[in-house]
Amino acid sequence: MPFYWGTIIVDFSTRNLNIKYRHKLKILKLNGFERIKMSKFDLVLKGGHLVDPSESINSPKDIAFSDGKVAEISPQISPSRAIKVVNVDHCFVTPGLIDLHTHVYWGGTSLGIDAEDFCRKSAVTTSVDTGSAGPGNFAGFRKHVIEKSAVNILAFLHVCHAGIFAFSDRVMVGESENISLMDPITAIEIVEENRDYIVGIKVRLGKHTSGKNGISPLAVAKEVAQKTNLPIMVHIDEAPPSYSEVLDQMRASDILTHCFRPLPNSPVDANKKILPAVQKARERGVLFDVGHGMGSFSFEVTKIMLDEKFYPDTISSDIHAMCINGPAHDLVTTLSKFLTLGMPFYEVINSCTNNASKALKRPEVGNLRVGSRGDASILNIKKGKFEFFDVEGKKLIGNQKICVEGVVLGGKWWFPD
Ligand SMILES: [Zn+2]
Repeated sequence: MPFYWGTIIVDFSTRNLNIKYRHKLKILKLNGFERIKMSKFDLVLKGGHLVDPSESINSPKDIAFSDGKVAEISPQISPSRAIKVVNVDHCFVTPGLIDLHTHVYWGGTSLGIDAEDFCRKSAVTTSVDTGSAGPGNFAGFRKHVIEKSAVNILAFLHVCHAGIFAFSDRVMVGESENISLMDPITAIEIVEENRDYIVGIKVRLGKHTSGKNGISPLAVAKEVAQKTNLPIMVHIDEAPPSYSEVLDQMRASDILTHCFRPLPNSPVDANKKILPAVQKARERGVLFDVGHGMGSFSFEVTKIMLDEKFYPDTISSDIHAMCINGPAHDLVTTLSKFLTLGMPFYEVINSCTNNASKALKRPEVGNLRVGSRGDASILNIKKGKFEFFDVEGKKLIGNQKICVEGVVLGGKWWFPD
């Protein structure tokens, strides 16, 4: 007669236990019979308010982790069943936050920041690097950063051979300005060798990134995306090409980042009306990502969009060396700006968990389903008077701010120590 507890099944009749779980079992001799006592959970978070939009959960619940995964969710889990218990009273427990647009090739590119430092500060457990590395330097990114980081790092591979290679306050060269740097054939090879980490293709378009080449680098990215069956993340800055021109070329599941960038090359026209191309692209399945950064997020534009109930699909920070000390700072500050502008907390969390997971086609992250990766963010909403700034230096005063209380990574308490 098998005995069930969580996901572990023990067959008492054969005692032929899976070796993987043997160390977790305690065999007790009692009255001549062997009794098997199941091990404890590695970690239980008690007393928190669980928000998991993937399962429509928004209520007080305890959560347990074992073997690096979510093991149980229930209104009450006894502390006696856990090796470590953390009281998270008055906190929100969400799936580990996914920042869909970051730059964490620290040391390999001038715009890279340290992934772990950033993730602690932001309660981010999956940092998606978008285009820092291209096919010519992805191997270094994988070996020296991705594989060495405690946090989960995924990547959009740049279609430019060297990725974003000249991005600093002294030297700024748009990598899409020189079409001979586009490297679709090697990009396909690198994708095939690194499918465990590469989730899409990156390309940057605009006056400052593709210059006289306009929209043409998008065609090269599309060729790679079609051959590898991956989505493209498209960066847009000032025209040309125009916002509508770019959107019209994008396919379902492709992601437009910097979607709420300032006027004039923005999702609204001079009369502050949403462009027809924006509505058409959403109907077609194109995704809209925030990508705050240092030049790509406007309170004015965001307010217009939110008032029309046009929420971004994903909210991301586009954190890099030149915006980490402001105006972007981190993901939770970017999320707090949306909260202050009227987007409900549940929708804000949905954007950087459930929606981000779907955009990445990675169902193992962004939710707290039993069996999913044991990553969780512990957040609080502080009340007070807070000042926020957008990329145009405009100030927004709010009375709430999302703060980080802790991070669970791979089923273990990771931050703060
Ligand atoms: Zn970026």
